Amino acid sequence: MSARILVVEDNPMNMKVVLMTLKRHGYTLLEAVDGKEALEVAISERPDLILMDIQLPKMDGLEVTRRLRQMPEFEQTPIIALSAYAMKGDRERGMEAGFDDYLSKPVNTRELPKVIEDMLSKRRGTDSGTEEEHHG
Ligand code: MN
Repeated sequence: MSARILVVEDNPMNMKVVLMTLKRHGYTLLEAVDGKEALEVAISERPDLILMDIQLPKMDGLEVTRRLRQMPEFEQTPIIALSAYAMKGDRERGMEAGFDDYLSKPVNTRELPKVIEDMLSKRRGTDSGTEEEHHG
């Protein structure tokens, strides 16, 4: 089954580019255009990974991420920040809020699928709850 990715982005053009890029890689895509909607869609749909714009209407991406991280079901969900601002300290604040990675905009459409695939396979690797290893 293809991974489900929630894309949070308020700029229609950026949203379009990200959706087109990820669609080609076979992901199932969910969308949210502001922070409030991001929180609602995340909670109701439980995506495998979230791409989170920082500057968003209603609630910014940092706050959405902080709130998600407080919920047990989102402790382990990979959340990748997207930001147009390469401000000093921005990355640090993002990591504090709970992002796993941080990509600057405009999005590099070749890099993005690789970062996502890496993140998902790392997560699958550590997700060993159902399969126990037997020694001897
Ligand atoms: Mn934005």
